[in-house]
Amino acid sequence: LFPLAGILVAAASVHGGDPITPPPGPGLPTVDASAVWRDVEELASDTYRGRNGGSPGELAAAALIAMRLEALGLEPLGDDGTFLQSFEFMPRFAPVPGVVASSQNVIALLPGQDPARRHEILLIGAHYDGQGADTEADPGRQESELADSGDRIWNSANDNAVSIAALLEVARLFTTGELTNARSLVFCAFGAEEHGMIGSFRYVERPPLPLERHVAMLNLEQLGRRPGTDLMTAGFGTSALWPAVLARADARTGRSTLLALERPEADTDHFPFFLAGIPAMTIGHGDGERTHTPADEAGTLSFGDLGWRTQFVAVVLAELAADFSKPTPGIDPRGEFAFAGVLASPAEAAAAGLPPGTRVLRLAAGWSGGRGSSSLAEGDLILRLAGEELSPDVLDGDLGVRVRDSPPGECLPLTVVTDGERREECV
Ligand SMILES: [Zn+2]
Repeated sequence: LFPLAGILVAAASVHGGDPITPPPGPGLPTVDASAVWRDVEELASDTYRGRNGGSPGELAAAALIAMRLEALGLEPLGDDGTFLQSFEFMPRFAPVPGVVASSQNVIALLPGQDPARRHEILLIGAHYDGQGADTEADPGRQESELADSGDRIWNSANDNAVSIAALLEVARLFTTGELTNARSLVFCAFGAEEHGMIGSFRYVERPPLPLERHVAMLNLEQLGRRPGTDLMTAGFGTSALWPAVLARADARTGRSTLLALERPEADTDHFPFFLAGIPAMTIGHGDGERTHTPADEAGTLSFGDLGWRTQFVAVVLAELAADFSKPTPGIDPRGEFAFAGVLASPAEAAAAGLPPGTRVLRLAAGWSGGRGSSSLAEGDLILRLAGEELSPDVLDGDLGVRVRDSPPGECLPLTVVTDGERREECV
């Protein structure tokens, strides 16, 4: 997901006529744009059936990404010496109510080259799961007049196979010495983002390396559309580090990246890192026409932009790896409400007297603060908001925004369940 940026496209500058392979320029890495393209085509092919979180297609994509990271000589940071960190979750739309699915993050480490800086970690991530086939994943998905009628596989090329392809090429640029990293780099492909940022919440809950060592998190979303336009960022207000680093990357590459949204919203994988107090920003684009529709196909991507955009992301990471200032704190995550839409487990449903498979909002792990008047705690289930039932088409992030933006002193009523006990809560 990453729905916001499409709205702002009119403000972006247009270069037009960009070459497929970006100019090397002094100090700029030579990107293999064809390799990026091949990876997008592969991941967005019908072989992976749209990579729905918890599906065999998603697992096959994870295996491919792990193989590629291993071939680059990166170190595994998953479970038991593998590249895969597995986790269970409840899908948004389960074929059988209450069913539990399993997904995985793919995580790899490139140690820093400077022994004095190696303990500091920069994480670059992107989700590799997609919409899957019909009836899977996101309730916000739609049919599209742009798609072939009868296309039952939603290949999710721009959202987000393209960002994984860019991430793999960025990893190659650092492992082959095109770019250097005094600090350590962690590359992470997140699973099950479309089910509510499950993979990134899991990373923050069970980090393979201590969270305190994570200096910053850079997330990639939808790098492949809006031909000729510069990229946009969301969450740049999480630290003054971001505008400074982007200004340097713009100067090196001749781009004009748009500082689009200061605050991170609960719509993609930078959000759990923000909640955990780590400066976290997403870079990419939105695309209102094809995102979360069967028309998000590799063949419709802006091929000519893949090279320079990958190069730009690599330069941002190189700038982060060379900036040894302590990141200035930005927007305070304490008091943010992050809701993950889940199905109540059979035990939870039974305890609360709910029908099996009732959709509820769980106050997400990673929520780090209190809000004075509220006694909500991590793991609480929310059944109703302001007297309204929670339907699947309500975006989880919107509810967080509604709670956050309600006027101070005014009550926003919630129906909450804690350990089977139902109560009315006012936040
Ligand atoms: Zn996405």
